[in-house]
Amino acid sequence: MRLPLCPPAAYERLKPDDDCMREECGVFGTYTNGSGLDAAEAAYYGLFALQHRGQESAGIAVSRKGKIDCHKAMGLVSGRFCDGLASLKGGTFAIGHVRYSTTGDSLLVNAQPLVVEAPFGQLALAHNGNIINAKELRTELEAEGITFQTTIDSEIIAALIAKNSGKGLVEGISYAMERLKGSYALVLMTKDSVIGVRDPKGMRPLALGSHNGAYVFASESCAFDTIGAEFIRDVRPGEIIIAGRTGLKSHQAVRSTDTALCIFEYVYFARPDSDIDGISVHKARERAGELLAISCPADVDVVSAVPDSSLPAAMGYARQAGLPFIIALTKNRYMGRTFIEPSQNRREMDVSLKFSALKRNVRGKRVLLVDDSIVRGTTSKYIVDMLKTAGAKEVHLRVSSPPVMHPCCFGIDTSSYEQLIGANHSIEEIRKFIGADSLSYLSIEDLHKTVECAACNFCAGCFNGRYPEDVSALIKRGGKHILNR
Ligand code: AMP
Repeated sequence: MRLPLCPPAAYERLKPDDDCMREECGVFGTYTNGSGLDAAEAAYYGLFALQHRGQESAGIAVSRKGKIDCHKAMGLVSGRFCDGLASLKGGTFAIGHVRYSTTGDSLLVNAQPLVVEAPFGQLALAHNGNIINAKELRTELEAEGITFQTTIDSEIIAALIAKNSGKGLVEGISYAMERLKGSYALVLMTKDSVIGVRDPKGMRPLALGSHNGAYVFASESCAFDTIGAEFIRDVRPGEIIIAGRTGLKSHQAVRSTDTALCIFEYVYFARPDSDIDGISVHKARERAGELLAISCPADVDVVSAVPDSSLPAAMGYARQAGLPFIIALTKNRYMGRTFIEPSQNRREMDVSLKFSALKRNVRGKRVLLVDDSIVRGTTSKYIVDMLKTAGAKEVHLRVSSPPVMHPCCFGIDTSSYEQLIGANHSIEEIRKFIGADSLSYLSIEDLHKTVECAACNFCAGCFNGRYPEDVSALIKRGGKHILNR
């Protein structure tokens, strides 16, 4: 078996120790089924809406006349990637992927979809999540003679499915689901079907929609709006849904009693106009702000947000507290994500370029600033300083999630204790470092209240250290976050 087929020349090897990838990605898949939609075009618009889930690379694979073609490029969906789109027109099946990895190498080798040879023909795969037993599975598959072209865990999923699909695709996927540990929302494509798969714990989101007979899968429901599709339902944890000429077929491959959707999707990661497992992301954030106003009041003049992800929480806070909401900061919309910059110096420089203070709005005021999370503390320190330089009399920081105290191995980039200010310092130490006049966080109990009617349970491992799988071998302990850098 050769993996992957597409495009071998562009593949470069990653360093062997890069095998624990930490990725947050967006996946999309469609079978346009006579709806008039062009599959690649629909995937393009879908990926556009999922851009916040991955800005490093984008890719679309399309199935036409029994053959899968693929186009990938580094950068944004609207960037260089557009140039190759015309060559993908005319298909009725397509899948797409946007990637945001945080391990050192940002290479086309890691862009998806991957395309592999399976017993029934080609199989394309796009993956959001993180496989925590990738190393063992890879060793096992290599011993069986499989050669890998990359070190990304997604290639292991593709290999497991392809290798075990002799009796049928559903059997191959089901076998892979039994062997894989970790988080995965997948869209797969054969020459005549598009398939959505969600891991048995439902750790990463995946939704199903439709439009004039077309079927659509997407990491988030916000991707449906861009192509006029309607949300049908979330793919269930452990479920395989196949969309093809005979309609939709669901297989509950693994029954899970123990679901663990990542709660950080609601805190920061997902777009506010998405609904995940029955909960509106915007409403969850607003509720977080309201609860924060109840538990952590402050004597201030105005409430404001760190744009954009904290806006709903800040508005919830202001409404609950009966305080005016103002815009204290503007964000340069042409900046990418500062969070993933490899060096602390670059991150600090980027934060200062990314935000600027509205002096007239904050001068002489006691400002309560809401942010959705503090990870390293870089953003908050700069922003508090910026507001004070702009003339704010006091800056009180309220965080609409608990302190991030533990790394995450399931797809949100918080890789080691060393990076986490909350893991190493008291709230008072953090307040001093940030330079805020007061600092408080939402409690874990209140965070759970923001999602209490969801159709699933949650992983809040980054806040409470309780993970749905044993990750002790993967987490880098030791090391200390140094405050004064
Ligand atoms: P930091 O500057 O490291 O404390 O990061 C916190 C800021 O980054 C907050 O303003 C969040 O909105 C944002 N953030 C939190 N988690 C992530 C993540 N996993 N990826 C990118 N940005 C994030």
